[in-house]
Amino acid sequence: MGNVDPQELAKFSELAHRWWDENSEFRPLHEMNPLRLEWIDAQAQLAGKQVLDIGCGGGILAESMARMAAQVTGIDLAAKPLGVARLHALEAGIENLEYLEISAEALAAQRPAAYDVVTCMEMLEHVPEPASVVQACATLLRPGGWAFFSTLNRNPKSFLLGIVAAEYLLQLLPKGTHEYARFIRPSELARWCREAGLELSTSRGMEYNPLTRRFRLTDDTSVNYVVACRKRA
Ligand code: SAH
Repeated sequence: MGNVDPQELAKFSELAHRWWDENSEFRPLHEMNPLRLEWIDAQAQLAGKQVLDIGCGGGILAESMARMAAQVTGIDLAAKPLGVARLHALEAGIENLEYLEISAEALAAQRPAAYDVVTCMEMLEHVPEPASVVQACATLLRPGGWAFFSTLNRNPKSFLLGIVAAEYLLQLLPKGTHEYARFIRPSELARWCREAGLELSTSRGMEYNPLTRRFRLTDDTSVNYVVACRKRA
């Protein structure tokens, strides 16, 4: 079956029809999107670039990067979210965007060094072997290309905020969205990147304020965080 957990795909497929509803389970992704988009663009200058979004789901990030004039490929293994993504792009009249149902590893075999930028956000913590996805990202990038990852740290605070608060107290996410054991320490992600030939550039925390219901970038990577790397030239 490869590097995929079918139960994870089922969770996202079941909710797919609500992907673009900003008050749905996907509100956190909508809330964090402007932040991460601006952060990615500031480093990688998206306009005119070949960009791959791995685990694109309903296309919140992929479509926003296409709107910034990047040539975007979005991939996922869940069919329903991809269907929603395709329909949304069609209705919006966006043409510089393709969606494919394929794994990162399989696309890496077909299109090595094809992309200037690879993004893989809120996805690694849903995969059995995240290091294999990081390796595929490196293969898909041209030398000097940028990789961006975001995920959840693994420690008591991220358990409390990322699962207990987010899923049970504030109910921002459905119960069972995240599994603590799959959270990833920045040091683990850094090691997988190094082993894949990706050099760490910067990392930032993404902090959620439950009162304002807003995310902001901080220096605190203890819960949600984003990482930027470059493939060795
Ligand atoms: N990256 C998007 C969606 C995050 S939700 C965003 O940040 O807006 C996580 C996505 O990862 C879901 O769409 C799910 O279907 C996808 N996913 C989970 N396991 C995957 C795998 N092994 N390969 C590709 N996509 C996967």
